[in-house]
Amino acid sequence: MDIRTAGVIGAGTMGNGIVHVFAKGGYNVVLVDVEQSFVDRGLQTISKNLEREVAKNKLTFEQRDQSLARIAGTTDRKRLAGCDFVVEAASERFQVKADLFHDLDAMCRPEVILSSNTSSISITKLAAVTKRPDKVIGMHFFNPVPVMKLVEVIRGLTTSDETFATAKALAEKLEKTPVEVNDAPGFVSNRVLMPLLNEAMYAVMEGVATPEAVDEVFKLGMAHPMGPLTLADFIGLDVCLDIMRVLQSGLGDPKYRPCPLLIKMVDAGWLGRKSGRGFYQY
Ligand code: NAD
Repeated sequence: MDIRTAGVIGAGTMGNGIVHVFAKGGYNVVLVDVEQSFVDRGLQTISKNLEREVAKNKLTFEQRDQSLARIAGTTDRKRLAGCDFVVEAASERFQVKADLFHDLDAMCRPEVILSSNTSSISITKLAAVTKRPDKVIGMHFFNPVPVMKLVEVIRGLTTSDETFATAKALAEKLEKTPVEVNDAPGFVSNRVLMPLLNEAMYAVMEGVATPEAVDEVFKLGMAHPMGPLTLADFIGLDVCLDIMRVLQSGLGDPKYRPCPLLIKMVDAGWLGRKSGRGFYQY
């Protein structure tokens, strides 16, 4: 199917980045969030990030204006009915996503592929709430989306080869590098990354080292561009906790239990960079 208009649900950290790359790639985009202020904030971020690319001579003024003109922001979910491909990037809660997939299935043309940017939720389970389980797939972009090359393309148990091929080709058209992964809690990226971040939090909680020292060990000793606690703050501590809980319940092994310090910080509203305080102050 010819994909001309993409629908993106969620104007947050990931959603606005996904809209950015689609619009820059020549696609029309319908961006949906639950409140107009969230839509507006997402559009402002896209505009600012496109501007930054102009300043770096990666984009012309004309290309910036054309990209922005391709985006329609709305709170009216029904506007997604005309889209040729949908990426869901709403909050990382199963019920939120299941309700959205149920509605999208009822609203979109039967041939339209419904994808999720979920970090850890089962694609197979999301597919099962629809009447098109062969056309549901994971497209897991990375933050910041306009910069990061990887897209984990996740095949649910029922995802068809045709759907996989379309999603892979689409990722390539967006100048990303797709990597094929099967559906399992946390896929590959978060199955491996999150326990590392969680363990770094245990090291801080148990007084093994300060956040600064833990981060320094990983930057200098393992050549990571940023340490695990800086990365956790960047991702959002609430997002990290949600993912650990998915790993814990999905894999059932006690080694995936979320660090009590992480739980306490999220309870306090210390969510990392986005709230101004996490392992560091911003
Ligand atoms: P976020 O909290 O920044 O944004 C989520 C947005 O979804 C919010 O604006 C919220 O209002 C909106 N939303 C919630 N329910 C909605 C609904 N029913 N309809 C429309 N909009 C709705 O979250 P985020 O970090 O952008 O994460 C979005 C998704 O991407 C999650 O599934 C997350 O696991 C995944 N993800 C996040 C990262 C990351 O680094 N933050 C990386 C990869 C994937």
